[in-house]
Order: sequence, then structure tokens, then C-alpha cells
Amino acid sequence: MLDIKYRYGIWKGYDWYLLNNGLSAEYIFYAPTLRLALKLTGNLGSSILLNSVLPDQLLARLERQSEHPIFPIIERPKSFYLAIGLTNNCTLACDYCHAEADRDTTINHDLIAKSIDYAFEKAAETPKKTLSVSFAVGGEPTMNWKEFTYTVNRIRELEKEHDGVNKVYLSMTTNCYYGYAKREFVANNFDVLTLSIDGYKEIQNIHRPTRAYKGSYSLVSETCKFFIDSNKVKAGLRGTVSSYSVKNLVDIVEHYFNTFGTGYTIAFEPLIEIGRALYGELLPPTNEEFAINFLAAKNRGKELGLRVITSAANVDRLVGRYCGAMAMPSFTVCTNGKVTACHRDQDGTDYVYGMVDTDTGVVTVDEQKINENVIQTEMPDYCNHCFAKWHCAGDCPDIRRIGYSRCDINRFLVFNQLNELLTKGGEAGSNRDIAKQDTFNLTRP
Ligand code: SF4
Ligand code: SF4
Repeated sequence: MLDIKYRYGIWKGYDWYLLNNGLSAEYIFYAPTLRLALKLTGNLGSSILLNSVLPDQLLARLERQSEHPIFPIIERPKSFYLAIGLTNNCTLACDYCHAEADRDTTINHDLIAKSIDYAFEKAAETPKKTLSVSFAVGGEPTMNWKEFTYTVNRIRELEKEHDGVNKVYLSMTTNCYYGYAKREFVANNFDVLTLSIDGYKEIQNIHRPTRAYKGSYSLVSETCKFFIDSNKVKAGLRGTVSSYSVKNLVDIVEHYFNTFGTGYTIAFEPLIEIGRALYGELLPPTNEEFAINFLAAKNRGKELGLRVITSAANVDRLVGRYCGAMAMPSFTVCTNGKVTACHRDQDGTDYVYGMVDTDTGVVTVDEQKINENVIQTEMPDYCNHCFAKWHCAGDCPDIRRIGYSRCDINRFLVFNQLNELLTKGGEAGSNRDIAKQDTFNLTRP
């Protein structure tokens, strides 16, 4: 059902593909780095498929497009990226938690102070003199409220005082299980929030119960509404999709529209069997279930004025590497002082490349480890001829490491997005200016 048939070719060094989903007689001709997508009749498509020879008309289009090609390369980061893991604990007991966040380990206060000082020093050396800070590793950052408020206040103070840094961006993924005082503090200090919520009441309460195994929906949805309505912070909703919730993605989008209105994005990601998900009750959706229901939810979102996304391949961006955090690398400080590149590596076991000494503040960085991590962000050989490669770039290195693959989802979504652009988005047969370059993708799968 997700299978897309394709033929690969190269014209003057640029990739081209001929695509067909087996449901239509028509083909799509696609040259991603030349930003060219065309609908071809069945006859023309079959003849190219048979002979691998492009007709003159098509060659003329390629020639024209080659005046403005895209090179999805990775530039060195223009900002410094600090991520801090404040705790390995959480106020919720999500059935599938990849971090298995129920350990009472918290970060040492001096370690936070030293990491912040180092990050400001390094950010001042970047071309944009900008520091991006997230709380992307470990458990729920607001649970360690004392250190959370200290960290945020200290960063905002230094932003005012530090001559060398022009701008600081604060972001985090949060479980939203807290009341008014915490919401106020967060809304007043953050630039971007990813709000974890898995759907309407029945789904949220089964997926993401409290530590006492009670429902979390009402407090979490109140917090989401608070942030969305506040107009102070850019908020997006992020939901994990299980085999239990996958058929309800359209209903979930409609529920959000009715409850929160518009003005935010909705991200859906399939449950991946790592951490607590290896022994939890919930199961992952099949790739086919996820792709088909995601597409329906995306289309429903469009009708309602809501952008529905997933971290799988997207034709709106061309990338040379999937993971910006690993390639830069991001300076992700775990509660134990290890510095890792991956936002999911909460104890620094898989992608560690440095250490912050709590007593002296000395930071050691292993360049060889950084290079080893960067190599893991390069496209594997099996991507060479894939038509999704400039939108996927080999996908998340960490999910590759555990043997998970969503290549069929990626290709299905790329094909369908192209198809939609060429049919609903304009005259069939016309080419569309389909993609812009994007050097980094920082979304988490
Ligand atoms: S994209 Fe994958 S490898 Fe990169 S930070 Fe996220 S989980 Fe880690
Ligand atoms: S990871 Fe899979 S979908 Fe992505 S580019 Fe490689 S082969 Fe294609």
C-alpha cells in the first residue's frame, strides 16, 4: 500500500526520479535539487521507464532549472546550542517514555552554573553571537522547579549583562502537567514550547497518566490552552501515536481545533520501541497505519487552518543531514556532567563527546568523538538512489542505530506531497517551485 515504484537517473550531476504509486497511470518526474516536479502522462512515463531516455522537452526544462540549483550542504553553526538535562524524573508516567523518567537524579547546581558560563563564552564567538538553550534531555524540566527557575533566571540575567551575546532563545518540550504559577513563569521567559499531548481525554489519559495512574488530560489541556492563548510564546503540540490512537488522528485534529482554535502546529510521531515502550502496554502503529492516517490528519488540518507535521520526510525542506544536533554538535549536558550530542542520550552513553567538571568548571571536549558523531549523520549508502534522500538524508541516526526504519513512510509522504502540489496546488502538468533549502532539521522523532 505504501509502495512507490521509481526509476533513478542522473542528468549533469543532478538526481532525477520517475515515480508512480501503482494507483494512477500518470507519473511524477522529480528533480529535487533543481526544484522541478512535473506530472507526466502514462505513455511518456512508460517510455522513460523502458528506455531511460529523457525527451528534449524535459531536457530543456532541466536546463532552465539548472540555472538555480540547490546544494543541501551543512554550514558550520552560526549560534551555540546548549541543552541541559535538569532531572531524570517526571510528574507523569507515560506508558512509552523513551527516557524511563522515574529516577530521582537531579543535576548539581554548580554544574548548571558552569555550563551556562561556558555556553555564553562560546556563543560570543559565533558569527551571530546567539545562544539557543533547550531542556531537551532527560525528564520533565519543570519538575526540578528550583533549578529550573534558577537556570532560566540566570540565563535571562546574563543575556542582559553579557556584552558578547546579542540574543538568547529559550525552548523546551514540556508535559504541561502544572498550574497557573508555573505556566506564567514559563510563558514570560520562553520563546518556543513543544507541548506534549497525545489527543483528547481518552487517549491522553491512557497514553500519559500521572504517577498515581490518574488522568492528566484536564490539567494538560488547560496548560496548552494557556500557552496558545498567551501570545507570548510560540507553541506547538506534539503527540505520540500508538496502535490504539492511530485511527483517530483526524478526530484529534478536530478536537484541538474545537478546544484550542488555531495558531500552532501539530506534530504526530509514531511510538518507537525504546525505553519504557519496550515493556509498556501500548504498541507502535504499523508504518502503513501511521502514514495513511497522518496524511488524512494533515489534509483535515489544512481545511481547518492548522499545520500538521511529522519529523519524517517533508518536501518543504531539503537537507544534507537529518540531525543538526549531532552535526553541530549541540552541547547537551546530562545530569552526570557528561556532554553528548543527541537529545535522547540522557546519560551520555551513546554519543558522549565531553565532560563538564563541576568543581573547576573545566570543560573537556574530544574532537575525535565529535567527528565520529558527525560521520553518523552522513547518509548511509542505501539512500543513494532513494527519491526521498534530499528530504530525509538518512533519517535520525539514533533510530537507525536501534534498527527502526520508516523509509516507506518517508517515500509515501514525499510522493503524496508532490502529488498534491501538482494537482490541488496548481495545474496538472505544470512544474512547481517545490522546495527550499534547509541546512538543519532539529526536530526530534
Ligand atoms: S534527531 Fe535523532 S540523533 Fe538527532 S538528536 Fe534527535 S534523537 Fe538524537
Ligand atoms: S533513510 Fe530511507 S527514506 Fe530516507 S533517504 Fe534513506 S532510503 Fe530514503
